[in-house]
Amino acid sequence: MNKAVRKAVIAGNWKMNKTPAEAKELLNAIAPLVKDAGCDVVACVPYVDLQTALEATAGTNIKIGAENCHWEPSGAFTGEISADMLAAMGVEYVITGHSERRTYFGDTDVTVQKRTRAALDKGLTVIVCVGEYLEQREQGITAELVAMQTKIALQGVSKEELARVIIAYEPVWAIGTGRTATAEQANEVCAVIRGVIKDLYDAEAAEKMVIQYGGSMNAKNAAELLAQPDVDGGLIGGASLKPADFAEIVKAATVG
Ligand code: PEP
Repeated sequence: MNKAVRKAVIAGNWKMNKTPAEAKELLNAIAPLVKDAGCDVVACVPYVDLQTALEATAGTNIKIGAENCHWEPSGAFTGEISADMLAAMGVEYVITGHSERRTYFGDTDVTVQKRTRAALDKGLTVIVCVGEYLEQREQGITAELVAMQTKIALQGVSKEELARVIIAYEPVWAIGTGRTATAEQANEVCAVIRGVIKDLYDAEAAEKMVIQYGGSMNAKNAAELLAQPDVDGGLIGGASLKPADFAEIVKAATVG
């Protein structure tokens, strides 16, 4: 399949880091470093930083995303933020199913599907995270598990809507651990996901599908990972908080 038909997406996931003032400072530092990017550049930030981030990136090529959303438009869901609220603010991206949401906050394949569906209905672009725990990799069920997570998340998503879906393959054992999947391991699972898209939709949809790798991607290992035929970008945690490192990854995606 022809990788050139897809535009890479490098997205930062800031997790629970940065106050609004710090967010402004970080985005002001990143913006000039990535202004000539040949890939899409996204910063997914904590809810309280969204307004500041939107203002700080106005007129730049950096798009802003949230790190989660609820599926109901409004209601008695204390502490939650709806896709409707994000869209009303002008937020363009949202992450669903990050492993930290699944592990610490009870997100399941079913709630990930509901969040994804709601976000698409509101016109957002969704970065859907899938990935296995180390025990599951050792058990040899990575491909099956990731295929299942992908299929459930995409239930009810049309082929046209896939243009606003990015799948991020994030092996849980590689997130925040400094232990990166090898380029071959990353590509192998991204190719499995592409195969699932082909089965669910068709070859054209599979060819156009943007599939990221995430898990300790950094300035040093990005080029090799992003050069893989089925890896179309990265979801970046720790390194997205360091302007020079994040810019280096964006540069690697532009070349790759
Ligand atoms: C992430 O949070 O999605 C992630 C990949 O984190 P890190 O890059 O720090 O491993």
